Amino acid sequence: MTVENFVITGGTVAAPDALLPDGWVAVEGGRISAVGTGNPPEGERVDAGGGLVVPGFVDTHCHGGGRGTFSGTDTDGIATSISTHRRHGTTTMLASLVSEPVDSLRRQMGALGEFVQDGQLAGIHLEGPFISAARCGAHDPGALREPDTETVTALLDAGRGHVRMMTLAPELHGGVKAVRQLAESGVIAAIGHTDGVEDEIRAGVEAGATVATHLFNGMRPLHHREPGPIGTLLDDERVTVELICDLVHVHPTMLRLAARHAGQGRTVLVTDAMSATGSAPGTYRLGDLEVQVADGVARLTSNGSLAGSTLTMDAAFRNLVVAARLDVGEAVRATATRPAALLGLGDRVGALRAGLDADVVILGDDYRPVRVLRRGEWVPGVG
Ligand SMILES: [Zn+2]
Repeated sequence: MTVENFVITGGTVAAPDALLPDGWVAVEGGRISAVGTGNPPEGERVDAGGGLVVPGFVDTHCHGGGRGTFSGTDTDGIATSISTHRRHGTTTMLASLVSEPVDSLRRQMGALGEFVQDGQLAGIHLEGPFISAARCGAHDPGALREPDTETVTALLDAGRGHVRMMTLAPELHGGVKAVRQLAESGVIAAIGHTDGVEDEIRAGVEAGATVATHLFNGMRPLHHREPGPIGTLLDDERVTVELICDLVHVHPTMLRLAARHAGQGRTVLVTDAMSATGSAPGTYRLGDLEVQVADGVARLTSNGSLAGSTLTMDAAFRNLVVAARLDVGEAVRATATRPAALLGLGDRVGALRAGLDADVVILGDDYRPVRVLRRGEWVPGVG
């Protein structure tokens, strides 16, 4: 596939500030060269077929897909995970790893590093092991530990600069100190899988945590006399909240409530997808644990706990608009613009704007991807 120059026309273009009916996106050398409405510039045309043209999705929390997983050293499984999500419109993603012994994480990060260097992944997200046993969800309780400076340093070193985000529970002994260490190292500190009360969560934010890992899931529930992680993180202007918008992990009314409160500057949709995504029901693994998948819902075999999702970003987009009743502009920002900014990539991806990478998704009926463009190249096997 060679990178060509062409103009996508015949659709509604989700530009940063407005939806442009009869809009166009001009692509040159893998970048967006111009965006407009009305008469398109000269050049080869690609017909959007009356669809909605949106920026490629950015997923900051994903474990795998297409039977592949990021929690392994099998490079085929990593490549399959990436291509599965790419066919659903994800053009930028982090690879998330569940809690495992430090040596296993080191090996897994070694395998993922090649993909980061190649530009196939935007980095690594460590979702553990410094999380609460009381709220560990589908993480192996035996792999959890309290954070200490040496272990945090060892993990970041093993990631060779590719660790972009780490989820932890600030109430653990050493938790707040670890948040500070991450922030000072330029790694996004995310609060999640936590049983903390307001004071403990607030201390984490004061120390530099800026993300709520899948708000509502894997955390102490909301209570009107003890806001816990949900109330505290949602209410804090410094915190971006991840939402798993599969309509299983969070009720559509709560999605709407959270997205409306956090607003367009702080809402990020994530998949938290595991290996069964895009595959048949059956038995799978998440890290070392066995998972059963039925009707698109993944649960641990041992205790029935939700074990990641089988969500893709296009479905998350559709669910936010159709079920949670947010508008298309809000969905674009939550699936592309805001997560790109969170990763510090806002000058590269996340919007249909001249100068950015030509990462474009054409959505057809029911917001299903018809074509996906990544860095100016059409992704095979879409639709
Ligand atoms: Zn996860």
